[in-house]
Amino acid sequence: MRLVVKYGGSTIQTSKKIRDAVKYTVNESKKNQIIIVCSAIDNTTDLLLKISHLVHKNDVNGAKTLATSIINSHKKIAQQTVSKAAGRKKLLDSLAEDFAEFLALVDGITLLHEITPRSLDYLISFGERFSSKIFSQAIADLGKKTQPMTGKEVGIVTDSNYGNCRPLMNTTRLKVFKNIESLVSKKIIPVIGGFSGVDQHGHVTTLGRGGSDYTASIIASCVKADEIWMMGDADGMMTADPLMVKNAKMIQEVSYSEAMEMSMFGAQQIHPKTFEPLLVKKIPMRVRNVNSPKNLGTLILSSPDAVHKKSIKCVSAFKNNAIVDISGTNMAGAPGTAAKIFDTLAVANINVMMITQNPSESSITITVKKTDADRTVHAIEKSLLGKIIKNIDVTSNVTIVALIGAGMRGTIGAASRVFGAVAKKSVNVVMITQGSSELNLAFVVRDSDASKAVNAVHNEFKLGR
Ligand code: ASP
Ligand code: MG
Repeated sequence: MRLVVKYGGSTIQTSKKIRDAVKYTVNESKKNQIIIVCSAIDNTTDLLLKISHLVHKNDVNGAKTLATSIINSHKKIAQQTVSKAAGRKKLLDSLAEDFAEFLALVDGITLLHEITPRSLDYLISFGERFSSKIFSQAIADLGKKTQPMTGKEVGIVTDSNYGNCRPLMNTTRLKVFKNIESLVSKKIIPVIGGFSGVDQHGHVTTLGRGGSDYTASIIASCVKADEIWMMGDADGMMTADPLMVKNAKMIQEVSYSEAMEMSMFGAQQIHPKTFEPLLVKKIPMRVRNVNSPKNLGTLILSSPDAVHKKSIKCVSAFKNNAIVDISGTNMAGAPGTAAKIFDTLAVANINVMMITQNPSESSITITVKKTDADRTVHAIEKSLLGKIIKNIDVTSNVTIVALIGAGMRGTIGAASRVFGAVAKKSVNVVMITQGSSELNLAFVVRDSDASKAVNAVHNEFKLGR
């Protein structure tokens, strides 16, 4: 099989973990063709972002100290990971070039006291540059041929929407295919740093937080992989967050569409765009646990078998949101009202998660992240209040609870069971949505009721069995 295997940041936190992952990779490479994608080590990307915050505050010393500490921690891991002296020297020499470039960038932005979306992408791309080199040299340490590569080097070409780029798939496909084929045909294991690419002007770009998942699926689709494995710390996708529900269990099989609904929730988060490149090529994905290699994890397919197709998969909870209710009697029978509201929110770059409108058309209710609530109110007040809109009402600290699974489609009584179970626990439901795909039934409760609601629904549908 040709496999793309992606290691998440927490699975390569320490030199011991890297060596374990590498041992596993080398062993798998005896039976399969392996292409590795890795995240930045642990929380490196958060630390790189922190540098940009320090630059904003003009804290030059703080930014430089943090940059030095990132360099030192990577140096230390590099030294501990590679046992052979020659390989260790090669790695440290190669990293030294990246460290110098990184420090020059930090010098530049601190001197200018300015960081643009473009330079931010350049800054936060360094985590994967470091990690891919360390991972690759650790493979070489075990006597295997390998090549570390950045997103740019492997050929991921994107648009210039810095911070949240999309790949230009036609160009990317040609380049990635050519680069990877030439390596694997010589039995060289490519180790690609995830998360970043390059735009058509040659500037480094990133794919959005958690974007290494997306890198893995882009690569898998370009080289027609047989499977893609997402290696993490959890057994797979779960029926509920195990921290909230004691008897939550691993889900065996889900469809891409279900997985997409589930991707933003739960312990095992997957970058939501990850499934896009897989849909056409129908490449199966496994979400696996590095700590239990015998467990094959959750299998994500374009069309799961009949048993799994019919079932309800999970109940998830997404905390720290706010409901914004936008109302006004003039809204009724006035075509274009919704367009104006959502246009205003789009211009303000506010992401809306749930939307409902009463049949009377006199109010539209949305949910947004709690941290976006003030900006939402402000944007609507500024351009629409007093015209078509009379009133804006905010309820903060709410949780979106979602029951997900194709098994709800066409099933009579699913909704009544959900709300019956929640009512029995005296939990008040504030808002409800269900799309006509019937894949996801979502409702909103107060944060303090979230755990009660999730457990009630998990029990009602016996998802723990
Ligand atoms: N390192 C990046 C992040 O933390 C990408 C990833 O890990 O998937 O967001
Ligand atoms: Mg991730």
